[in-house]
Amino acid sequence: MPLFCDVALAVPLDMPFTYAIPPGMEPVVGGRVLVPFRQKRMSGVVVELHDRPPRVATKKVIEVLDLEPVLDKHLLKLGQWIADYYLAPIGEVFRAMLPLSAEFKRSVTYRITDEGRLALHLAGMSGSPSRSQRTPEQQLVEFRALDYLAERESTREERLRAATRVSKELLSGMVRKKWIAREDVSEAREAARVVKVAVLLAAEPPAEASPPPDGPEAGHGKTLAGRAAKRLNQNQRTLIEALAASGGRVPVDALRELDIPHTTLTTLVRRSLVNIVDEPQPLTASRLKPRQSPFEFEFSPAQRAALARIGEAVTARKFSGLLLHGITGSGKTAVYLAAMRAVLEHGRSAILLVPEIGLTPAVAADLHQVFGDEVAILHSGLSNAERAEQWHRIRRGEARAVAGTRSAVFAPVSDLALIIVDEEQDSSYKQEETPRYHARDVAVMRAKMAGAAVVLGSATPSLESYYNAKKNKYALLELPDRVEQRPLPEVEIVDMRKEFQETGQEQVISRKLAEEIRERLEKKEQVMILLNRRGYSPVVLCRACGKALQCKNCAVSMTHHKRERKMECHYCGHVEHIPDKCAHCGSEYVYFVGTGSEKLEELLHGMFPQARIGRLDRDTVRGREDFERALNALNEGALDMLVGTQMIAKGHDIHGVTLVGVIGADMALGLPDFRAAERTFQLLTQVAGRAGRGQSPGKVILQTYFQDHYAVQFAARHDFSGFYEKELQFRAWMHYPPYSAIANVLIRSEKLDDALTWSGELGRWFEKTRHEGIRVLGPAAAPITRLKRDYRYHFILKSPSREKMNALLRAMLAAAAARKIPRTQVIVDVDPVWLM
Ligand SMILES: [Zn+2]
Ligand SMILES: [Zn+2]
Repeated sequence: MPLFCDVALAVPLDMPFTYAIPPGMEPVVGGRVLVPFRQKRMSGVVVELHDRPPRVATKKVIEVLDLEPVLDKHLLKLGQWIADYYLAPIGEVFRAMLPLSAEFKRSVTYRITDEGRLALHLAGMSGSPSRSQRTPEQQLVEFRALDYLAERESTREERLRAATRVSKELLSGMVRKKWIAREDVSEAREAARVVKVAVLLAAEPPAEASPPPDGPEAGHGKTLAGRAAKRLNQNQRTLIEALAASGGRVPVDALRELDIPHTTLTTLVRRSLVNIVDEPQPLTASRLKPRQSPFEFEFSPAQRAALARIGEAVTARKFSGLLLHGITGSGKTAVYLAAMRAVLEHGRSAILLVPEIGLTPAVAADLHQVFGDEVAILHSGLSNAERAEQWHRIRRGEARAVAGTRSAVFAPVSDLALIIVDEEQDSSYKQEETPRYHARDVAVMRAKMAGAAVVLGSATPSLESYYNAKKNKYALLELPDRVEQRPLPEVEIVDMRKEFQETGQEQVISRKLAEEIRERLEKKEQVMILLNRRGYSPVVLCRACGKALQCKNCAVSMTHHKRERKMECHYCGHVEHIPDKCAHCGSEYVYFVGTGSEKLEELLHGMFPQARIGRLDRDTVRGREDFERALNALNEGALDMLVGTQMIAKGHDIHGVTLVGVIGADMALGLPDFRAAERTFQLLTQVAGRAGRGQSPGKVILQTYFQDHYAVQFAARHDFSGFYEKELQFRAWMHYPPYSAIANVLIRSEKLDDALTWSGELGRWFEKTRHEGIRVLGPAAAPITRLKRDYRYHFILKSPSREKMNALLRAMLAAAAARKIPRTQVIVDVDPVWLM
């Protein structure tokens, strides 16, 4: 065994740390160890084993947590790539890749194997085992441990060691000899929805297979059956009868009611009459009515062609990237599931990534329908323990199809053949904390490393992916038609400036939209209204001094929430009472300005008192279930109208909706962010796609103050390529992605002085450092100058060469460290999706 190991710890430092390996311990590369770090114990991932003594004194590894790697060599390499590409500390990258935080308080259990029983049996016959390098005392301890385990189900390590005084070393030796099996029982396993169930294997012990009975009955001249039955004592019989009466399967907990000692059950298990299995509880089934199976309808020629291309890419067993551009309602999901099923049929693995909001119980139900137990589903609603349990299922090879949000890209599948990224443009793929990776880009890199195919699917691909397809880096697959030839909805633009001139007042709902809503309601058709701003009023102003009520932690307005009677900051969550006078001048003339989704719902109730109206935003939706419940109500016709934020825009198939109203979806166009036009185009296209998915054609009313803006115009015409050509021109002129790599360097501190000093120092450093071909803008105050108590300044770097940009960023981090600027206060965001 090497003398030292280098361990990556989840701390904001860019290097691993060296620890000495005590004798008897056998850490593995890619496995975790527990080590002392600054008065604490931390777990980290071993990245290297070696014999090079470090220059400083080393501490020792406390415990080896994994006997086998939790990160195989592919995932280790992927982690290293992420660390380099996003300039993230390697230990923090590994932490993000491993959903095992719940396992700190895990326990290790052992159980005896058949070979162990045999060894015990042989030892009992011969008196002492032969050909052993262990001392007689050690052998004695080993057999004491085997004996102890033979009487029990799996046993925790602490209890086993306390009872038999067996050492860790001996236990490892016994595992190697396969006498015992070690299991890492995470809290995960205990807390996950797994129930121990007793399964009846046989009502009577077989006469021959069982060891000779130890009682005096042996040799009596009775029938075999009679003899066997007699060997069961009263308790054992009662238990077996109870099991038989309940169809042979009863949860162990339920057996407790029989008031029989637990040892009876263990005895029956030992005699192979009963088995105890972990039975996963069914995942919460969808409350949606079972949908038409994704495979029951005929695939269109375009779907078939896409499927065939994906199949070719998979069987080639080398990297290929495909961009699946399918308009809303064109049946992309069916293509995904069919492609994944084909991969599984070849014994290989596939990963499907979906945006946060995309993984509804309905989608989960589809996945279960297609893949049964072979699918693992990872979503944000899982507890740490459940997440860890899914992770183990994937690693054991029980689930070769994985579906999940961002971090599912790290799923430990083997023989990866296909990764699909659904709605690849969705911003939830970008992690907004260290490591700030983009799951789509990591998916592409993972596929490259694994020689797999990656499919990026979207109705509105990101500029980057579309550009890559144009440059032939990705093959472009098109699904140009909606399923069953349903037409795309007609889009009518309402110019809200004109509306104001003609009506003489600021309108929330234009006359045109009101008229269309009325018409639909009369025809018993359904309506969706998008207003991408939650709360009642987004601004509270004072008439006397003109000041707005700002969050005390952030430089943003507090939003009024009427029903919950509070003011809330949508950036940090800070809550305050509704003010009755101005905080600045004391005037009582405070008033509420603007409209959020809560107020919109109220307005619509006033206009259409007969209509049943539901609302979908982060205030009404706490989890996936609420989300689905609202959509379900719409689907079943229990609602006439659904109002909501962008949540309502994403990928739901509600057939009764024939009108979509869009209010203020162009607000983003006023923001100082180079992706504003792209986001607006995508949101408008997505929400428009909700209309007319059933028999009746759909219509969209698009209210805007920017009616001449190209994002609005192209979205209204469903002109995807028109928008992209125009937007690519703009990006090229401005040296923005995809023509340039960019990074946002944010300097933050709760102390304004620090933020100013540090950004000034780094500004001077950038000035005097030669960096050819890299533009450095800043320092400038960030668009949101204060957020979650931090004052914020930033630099934006643009460069056609990513290598040069990252080299400069690395040098900048070193310069910041030399100036004693804490690493946590300098945030480097490579390929940012959000510059605010
Ligand atoms: Zn005032
Ligand atoms: Zn705030």
